[in-house]
Amino acid sequence: MTISTKVLIIGSGAAGYTAAIYAARAGLDPIVITGMQPGGQLTITTDVENMPGFPDGVQGPELMEKMRAQAERFGTRIVVDTVVEVDLSARPIKAVTDNRDVYEGETLIIATGAQARWLGIASEQRFNGFGVSACATCDGFFYRGKNVAVIGGGNTAVEEALYLANLAAKVTLVHRRDTLRAEKILQDRLFAHPRIEVIWDHAVDEVLGDLEPIVSVNGLRLKHVRSGAPQTLTVDGVFIAIGHDPAVSLFQGQVELDEAGCIKVDQRTMRLTGTDAPAWAAGDVAGPVTRQAVVAAGMGCVAALEAEKYLAAITPAAQAQAA
Ligand code: NDP
Repeated sequence: MTISTKVLIIGSGAAGYTAAIYAARAGLDPIVITGMQPGGQLTITTDVENMPGFPDGVQGPELMEKMRAQAERFGTRIVVDTVVEVDLSARPIKAVTDNRDVYEGETLIIATGAQARWLGIASEQRFNGFGVSACATCDGFFYRGKNVAVIGGGNTAVEEALYLANLAAKVTLVHRRDTLRAEKILQDRLFAHPRIEVIWDHAVDEVLGDLEPIVSVNGLRLKHVRSGAPQTLTVDGVFIAIGHDPAVSLFQGQVELDEAGCIKVDQRTMRLTGTDAPAWAAGDVAGPVTRQAVVAAGMGCVAALEAEKYLAAITPAAQAQAA
């Protein structure tokens, strides 16, 4: 099946839904293809305390549900499917989904977000899903009353540690330096928590565990970053929270990337640079990697308004006037 639209949006996080709200209100009948995680990364967070307009905070899934409903209210069509191929050189731009449907967009807004980063050691892969996770809100439940470790020193790591401390008997945050980069308010909560301990200046050397009778984690071998001295930590689960990588693989070879691996855009218009494709990018995929819902939403708004301007300029009436 081939479906055509003026504005095709890939991704359904804060950037994608906000772009859809603006495009729909402009009468452009946008289509959002959600990807494998409708609602994006905010659906796996709990309290969002810094979203303006929510003085008492809001749960991530509820926030995304509201954004989706707002996009639909103005006529956005939301398709639960995953784009597996994109051709930015085609006019209209073509996207093929997992269901083998073809979507043609006069314009494209890329809002594919970012994915959790992994340490890249073999044992992490071996126990992935069996004691190793990158999402405390998804998997924390399995560690009630147990001991867990969180790896990382940014906002994500501290938020994950605080979340897990409500469930686990003990949480150990392992960080490779002696200071955290997380916001002060989060650090204060972390240091004040009676069930959280921090191990500074250590990297993970290996995730320890059994493969039989069931695959399970029972510890971590850590290494001091300067002396190399080993240390074993007894834990039942490990949560990796070392940042995110922008989801750009669909567009490899068709877009310019910056040094952080984000799609390069004109910072004023969010339009892709280095290509004449009528395509914009918004949210974590477009960086800078601030990973804030409000920033992603702002980028989505700009992208949709710019796509609207582009479409208005290519109408026959506008072209006749320009001639
Ligand atoms: P960050 O990039 O901020 O932090 C990643 C952490 O992981 C750093 O402490 C880094 O160490 C560590 N790290 C990176 N690679 C490795 C590795 N290979 N081994 C061990 N440790 C590693 O990522 P976050 O996901 O925490 O946050 C990204 C952005 O999103 C930030 O701007 C953050 O503020 C924002 N954010 C905001 C939230 C909020 O407002 N509530 C919630 C979550 C994220 P080092 O410090 O040594 O570099």
